[in-house]
Order: sequence, then structure tokens, then C-alpha cells
Amino acid sequence: MRLNTDGLIIREIQTGEADRLVTVLTRDMGVIKAFVRGARSIKSRSLSATQLLGYSRLSIYMSRDVYTIDEAEPIEVFFGIRGDFARTSLAMYFCELVCELAPEGTDSQELLSLVLNTLYKLSNNKLPIHQLKAIFELRILSLTGYMPNLIGCSVCSKYSDETMLFDIEHSQLYCESHRPNHHTVPVTAGVVAAMRHICLSDPEKIFSFTLSNTGLKSLADISETYLLARTQRRYKSLEFYKSFT
Ligand SMILES: [Zn+2]
Repeated sequence: MRLNTDGLIIREIQTGEADRLVTVLTRDMGVIKAFVRGARSIKSRSLSATQLLGYSRLSIYMSRDVYTIDEAEPIEVFFGIRGDFARTSLAMYFCELVCELAPEGTDSQELLSLVLNTLYKLSNNKLPIHQLKAIFELRILSLTGYMPNLIGCSVCSKYSDETMLFDIEHSQLYCESHRPNHHTVPVTAGVVAAMRHICLSDPEKIFSFTLSNTGLKSLADISETYLLARTQRRYKSLEFYKSFT
């Protein structure tokens, strides 16, 4: 059986002299692992299309559970990211998050669009990179079943307060009058609005908001802490990114 689909290479492992095993976020089948046979003999055009961060039109041969990519036509290779350590490590972090969170075997159109749009903005220097990182973290969690409850105070439903308290462990908000005894993080009304915007807006709008530098710093801290709490693991690429920023 043969599948033709678009996919982004999010991990690659050398498996012998000429073969590679790649992990691909595909438009139609979620995350799959596939061999690229005879990397030496495959045309150089197909080779670059199957390297990390290559987004390509793929022809995949499926035999039982083994997938093999035998043709790849590059669509986008994100040149603007390569050669810059902070951008490269952040892109690797996004790929690690996709490997961790993406479902297998299902339509992944919206997730793929999120990754591609974020990489495009990272490659073209469209937004501060810590803003892109926060958007990606909160949005991928929202798409994969970990959306925080941001509707209002979890006791009285109050929608907005000058400062609200975010309970990272239980993914919920409190107003100032219902500050709980357990640990919460104070968030300004502007940062709460940005979090709602990222989690709840239509896909094409999630990048368009502005915050003060202090607000962005607070958003970045909260989104990372929230992500690490939800996924309960460490990311080498994140540690690498932090060494460059
Ligand atoms: Zn309340």
C-alpha cells in the first residue's frame, strides 16, 4: 500500500551505513516512524527533504507495520532557523513536544499547521522568540487535551480581576477574593487575556497579540512551568535553548 501525504520530519536516527529512521508529523496519519532507505543512493533533493525540520510531500510505502519513504519533494526547509543556536534549539524543543504529545494514526491537520506556522515565524524573525515559545507551549497543550481552565475564577466565575491567581497543578484560576491556601502564581489581567487568546482563538489569530516586556516574561514563565507540570519530564533541547538565551 502507498500513502501520499505532507509531513514534517521531527526526529532522525542513523540506523546503519545508509539508512535512517525518521519520525514524521504527517497531515493525515499523525506521527509515524519511517525508514529512509539507502540515504546515499536517494536523490540529493529527496535527502534534504527527509532531514530534520524538512517539510515535504512524501510518498510512503507501507508493508505491514513498516513504513518506508521512497520519494520526498521538499516544500519548506526553514533556512532561517539553521545556523542560529537559540532558534535551532527552540525548533528542536517544538519537535520534542510534538513527539511527546501528538497522537498517532489520526488526522493532525491543526497540529501540523501550528508547528509549521510557528517555525515559519521563527525562521522569519516575525515575533520575539520567547513569545513564540509561550504560544507554542500553551497551544499544543490545548490541542492535545491539556487546556487550562481559563473561563474565570473557579469559585465565583469572576471573569477578570486586576490580578488573578493561576493554580498550575489543578489548571485553574482564582480571583483575588478567593485566593486559595495552596500554591498559586499571580497573573495580571493582561497575561490572563493573552493566555485565553492563545488557548481559545481561531488558529490563524493566535500569534496576534501584544504584551509589555514584563507581561511577556510572565507569560513565558507560566507557560513553561505549566507545560513541564503537565508532561512531567525534562527536555534536553529546552535546556540547550536556555543556555543560549
Ligand atoms: Zn472568585
